[in-house]
Amino acid sequence: MTAAPEVVAGVDIGGTTTQVVLCTEDLDVIDRLGVPTPAAEGGAAMVGAALGALRLLLDRTPGRLLGVGVGAAGVVDAHSGRILVASDSFHDWAGFPVTATVEGALGVPAYLDNDVNAFLRGEVARGAAAGEPHVLGMTLGTGVGGALWLDGALYEGPSGAAGEIGHVPGFGDLRCTCGGRGHLETLASGRSITARYAERTGRNATARLVAEAAAGGDGDALAVYESAGAAVARAILVTVGLLDVTTFVIGGGVSRAWALLEPSIQRMLSAEPPVGGQPLRVLPARLDGDAVAVGAASRARVELDTVTHV
Ligand SMILES: [Zn+2]
Repeated sequence: MTAAPEVVAGVDIGGTTTQVVLCTEDLDVIDRLGVPTPAAEGGAAMVGAALGALRLLLDRTPGRLLGVGVGAAGVVDAHSGRILVASDSFHDWAGFPVTATVEGALGVPAYLDNDVNAFLRGEVARGAAAGEPHVLGMTLGTGVGGALWLDGALYEGPSGAAGEIGHVPGFGDLRCTCGGRGHLETLASGRSITARYAERTGRNATARLVAEAAAGGDGDALAVYESAGAAVARAILVTVGLLDVTTFVIGGGVSRAWALLEPSIQRMLSAEPPVGGQPLRVLPARLDGDAVAVGAASRARVELDTVTHV
């Protein structure tokens, strides 16, 4: 009889869907399951839904579970494993002890990351930037998130906010959702693509519909994506100048319109190349819906390794 293989689980608790993956020790996904996130029912229900999905996966794909990584939206304390600040759409989530709850239920170590940090961990572990030592990750979703990978590790900064390029000024003067002005998010998030298109046309359309209109030759839609791509390029140039990081991974729903975004990013980068002349790599995310969960699993993998080998 062969012993059950050792597995690591990754969980992505998103606003609408919770994605759970089971991975080998090498972070190959061997099974996955997405379930609705009961965001209105509170933290216990959300983690409960994730645990239910994980138990189902372990039933149908048996393995010896070594640990669990969780990626969650909002501001998290990656050390205590608690949610610090959550958006209004999550009921009773701020303050919730995520890792303690998972460890209590499963009896294995659990780790918590912010979802954008987990996204970048995933893309560096097994995705578009696999094996790269220095990477900036950006997620162009409802909002714009950022995360920074330096010298082969996630760089969190003293308050855990390193890499948050979405809310720095210098990108025009439009009012941002955070209350600031001229942030990257005002041009490159899904919500702002909808808003910028509505300002030009009076029509309300999701970022995806605006992308479809652009692909069909709609000049206003093209202009909105052109601005988004130019803003992303500006963020890239700031990062290159500040950190000499030259690899960029762009994910989130807006990045699915890569055929629209990439040309405008590249136009701006060619027009204003970095002073140092470094060649830049700007890559679309590769793991799609698995990125956060695989990244969370990779955090667990690294932490477990550290424990084992001390
Ligand atoms: Zn902002």
